[in-house]
Amino acid sequence: MGLRNEAFFYFKKQGRRSEKSKPVPPSPKQVGLPGPTRNGKMVMFFAVKLKDLFEKGRDYPWQKPDNCPCCNSQRLWGHGFAEAIFDGYKRPLVLKLYRCPDCGCVIRLRPKGYFKRFQASIETIRSSITSKSIMNRWLPGISRSRQCHWYRALKKRLNAYLTGVWVGGVVAGFDRLLQLGQVPVSRCI
Ligand SMILES: [Zn+2]
Repeated sequence: MGLRNEAFFYFKKQGRRSEKSKPVPPSPKQVGLPGPTRNGKMVMFFAVKLKDLFEKGRDYPWQKPDNCPCCNSQRLWGHGFAEAIFDGYKRPLVLKLYRCPDCGCVIRLRPKGYFKRFQASIETIRSSITSKSIMNRWLPGISRSRQCHWYRALKKRLNAYLTGVWVGGVVAGFDRLLQLGQVPVSRCI
């Protein structure tokens, strides 16, 4: 199923991403691959029908991962739920959590097609970037400040990671960063 390939590591804000020190761009091979395994948190992306998830809430039939993405253990325990906001839904949706008793890793399941910590779909964000770069117009129906935030973050990231080698424009840059396993519009560099 290749689920493991779609797992990304993240840490709490206070985690080990060291503060304002100079960003060292990781090599493409490192990006998006699972990192240290002890007490980390993993995000795994699954095909999810958001409308069903909205209606069923905690009864939504999540597909349980086959094994722990950190240590491969096949013992995964339910670990409750976490709320997350998605565009188009007036209340938060509940995402399923699992915990691996062998390595302590907490696994959060998220819908495919959405970046972690973003409530707009990847498609919407990409459309916004395209609209701005080609027609110098923001998409209707989404606040200008959010779109501006995505655009600025992307430009900043392109400078940080693809500087000197990138002449392909912002939309192609978005796709390139995506290919590298990055969140192109993430502010954390
Ligand atoms: Zn584990």
